[in-house]
Amino acid sequence: MASLSPEQIKQLVDQSHQAKEKAYCPYSKFRVGAALITEDGHVITGCNVENACYNLGICAERNAMAKAVSEGHKSFKAIAVASDMADQFITPCGGCRQFMREFGCNWDVYMTKADRTYDKMTVEALLPVSFGPDALGQTASK
Ligand SMILES: [Zn+2]
Repeated sequence: MASLSPEQIKQLVDQSHQAKEKAYCPYSKFRVGAALITEDGHVITGCNVENACYNLGICAERNAMAKAVSEGHKSFKAIAVASDMADQFITPCGGCRQFMREFGCNWDVYMTKADRTYDKMTVEALLPVSFGPDALGQTASK
């Protein structure tokens, strides 16, 4: 897998922070944005969308991945995740790690701070020894 150029990384991080502006989070006030880049260079963004029935809320990362799949994309190079936290990189929740893993272990997650600095880890590193499509006799979606 070709890795992203520094310019592509910067752009993806910027897009995740722009997506954060759309967050619908009247309850937590915790804005999250995500920008997902496909193998063929499409960028699909997502934000968290909360609900008065709290447990129906969806994370930015899963929102972006579901949008991508619904638009015909299943091969992902990387996802950037943004929040307003200044002192901590935003990390995906366990549910989103599992959702990422559905689309392969060997792609990158850029976890950012409000100042747009980032830490990068693979899906494999974020969710080791994972359960995935292969356990059900499927090859990883590509
Ligand atoms: Zn999540």
